[in-house]
Amino acid sequence: MRPSLLDPLFAPLTSLDGIGPRIATLLANVVPADLGEREARIGDLVFTLPHSVIDRRARPGIAHAPQGAIVTLDLRVDRHQPAPRANRSAPYRVFAHDETGEIALTFFNAKQAWLEKLLPVGENVVVSGRMEWFNGRPSMVHPDHVALAAEADALPLLEPVYPLTAGLSPKILRRAVGQALDRLPAMPEWQMPDVMRARGFPGFANALGIIHRPSEPQDVSPEGPAWARLAYDELLAGQVSLALVRARVRRMSGRPLRAEGRLEARVRQALPYALTASQERSVAEIRADLESPERMLRLLQGDVGSGKTVVALLAMAHAVEAGGQAALMAPTEILARQHLATIAPIAEAAGLRAAILTGREKGRERAGVLEGLADGSIDVVVGTHALFQEAVAYRNLALAVVDEQHRFGVHQRLAMTAKGEAPDMLVMTATPIPRTLVLTAFGDMDVSRLTEKPAGRRPIRTVTLPLDRLEELVARIAVAVAEGRKAYWICPLVEETEETDLTAAEERHAVLRSVLGDCVGLVHGRMKGADKDAAMSAFKEGRTKVLVATTVIEVGVDVPDASLIVIEHAEHFGLSQLHQLRGRVGRGDQASTCVLLYKGPLGETAKRRLEVIRDTEDGFLIAEEDLKLRGEGEVLGTRQSGTPGFQLARLEFHSDLLEVARDDARLLLSRDPDLASERGQAVRLLLYLFGRDEAVRLLRAG
Ligand code: ADP
Ligand code: MG
Repeated sequence: MRPSLLDPLFAPLTSLDGIGPRIATLLANVVPADLGEREARIGDLVFTLPHSVIDRRARPGIAHAPQGAIVTLDLRVDRHQPAPRANRSAPYRVFAHDETGEIALTFFNAKQAWLEKLLPVGENVVVSGRMEWFNGRPSMVHPDHVALAAEADALPLLEPVYPLTAGLSPKILRRAVGQALDRLPAMPEWQMPDVMRARGFPGFANALGIIHRPSEPQDVSPEGPAWARLAYDELLAGQVSLALVRARVRRMSGRPLRAEGRLEARVRQALPYALTASQERSVAEIRADLESPERMLRLLQGDVGSGKTVVALLAMAHAVEAGGQAALMAPTEILARQHLATIAPIAEAAGLRAAILTGREKGRERAGVLEGLADGSIDVVVGTHALFQEAVAYRNLALAVVDEQHRFGVHQRLAMTAKGEAPDMLVMTATPIPRTLVLTAFGDMDVSRLTEKPAGRRPIRTVTLPLDRLEELVARIAVAVAEGRKAYWICPLVEETEETDLTAAEERHAVLRSVLGDCVGLVHGRMKGADKDAAMSAFKEGRTKVLVATTVIEVGVDVPDASLIVIEHAEHFGLSQLHQLRGRVGRGDQASTCVLLYKGPLGETAKRRLEVIRDTEDGFLIAEEDLKLRGEGEVLGTRQSGTPGFQLARLEFHSDLLEVARDDARLLLSRDPDLASERGQAVRLLLYLFGRDEAVRLLRAG
């Protein structure tokens, strides 16, 4: 149960003075938490941090206040000059002075009674706002703040600026945040003293105070120690909870998969090539994981064409020799079939019994596969998410491989976990996610990396070409085809929306066919499975030479002798997508070309994207540029502002803290796995504060 110490922070916003249901709803729009179904709480408000400050500290005196500057003036009120009755739209002016001169405080549509109370004649007041000089006469239109001199302390000289939403006044928001801050309970410190010292971190409550009640403009900077402290809190909470989940997942399994390497050796014999050094390294890392009694949770990261599939196959061979079954899940049916096509001959040569299961296998075929999985007569199964649906039972699923994980969600991963005795997991991704994001996106997984391409690969020449030179391009393709080359022609979307002006693949197919003849094939996402297969194998076997495709071929399709790819409307694709698509060529020993066909004029970002792709083939460089151009949210496909999954941490500023937090979390849990120590108890509070209470439940479930 949640410690009662935290109750004030879990109270609803309406428990604050002056906040009714209507304002509470508005406030819920600005808090950083992803509220889902729950209502906003005081703790959410405390985490609503300002993005900047208005500096009102300048007090130059009326005569010395520059045009347009935000200043604070100490004035004495002289007289009121209401708008003349005849001209309602004229302003109401209040004249006041200091020792340097006189100023007109100007109000439109203001009530006289209210102004007389706000600015009583003869009183000393403090006024803050923007200075305006008109014909040599100073004025201030609708001052932001007015206070009697005796109450001047209430005027915020450094005013934090919060995210706003329609209907919510900054003043109300600021006051609500102030009240919320006052309700912060005294809590024990959960951070290590040496980390605090080394980084100059203030305490938790202190950090919030510094940011919400800044005394220097830099106090609200995400790079400052106060914000960094809170970011670190959030990152630590995340890492501790991931580590707890992981520890539990590992405790569930605990079965070593031991094998002498007999099957692995047979697979190697069936390969027409030798593994690259990084493939060897990855295989060794995976083997060590499989042999250990802990459950494997490993990410295999490698650029397109780096040869992940064979690494997975060797891992599967190991699992099978150890007496288990292995499953390989692909995101699309085409990819599943392609994997099977790659794997089946080698598997057969090595004596592994392989099968496929997708949504398309029906009737007796499907029944046969299900039976084989249940009785163990199938060693290796390749498929789509159909592999993990309810009806599918495995005799002994020991290893689950997921290809192109970024297309799946955490849910699928959990579904897989439910099959068999918590199988070892290998996740393959071609998205060269930067290290910092691996942690946030995949959690605390171990990482193996394929850092080189197989020997003999030649660089891909990439060119950009405007759409109005289409005819020229088609003529060149005709020549290439005559020379025996194969080409992909990628079109974005098929009839996604009626009004889209994107060239539909079908239309392009017809046009190319009219020029090049029936060597032009077509494959797109709306085709029936069997038709897709037929189109793919026609291209693979060379019965068609040009394959017009939508992005169904984006990931993983392997036709090594295709050496030309045209990407039409390249300006509509994201960087990583372009990189993935281009990776369909350059897989054989021929020199390859990629043509980025665009429709001008290009916007700045689109132009930059095409330049990046043209100038480099380095997936990591591309990922970094991608991050810069799109922001992190989109890289992970979530399109949020800020860093996905975080309320306070912003990885563009705090990514260095992520690894520190991970090490800290690991160390903490290795010493205190139940979070029972004094620090452990404090860290439990932290988990609640950042909504990681599922992790606390795991602790109890043991
Ligand atoms: P990806 O990492 O994109 O999934 P694949 O596993 O599809 O890459 O491999 C791409 C191509 O490279 C395949 O044709 C595969 O047979 C080939 N390949 C893999 N490893 C090697 C190697 N060490 N030497 C030569 N070719 C290899
Ligand atoms: Mg692949």
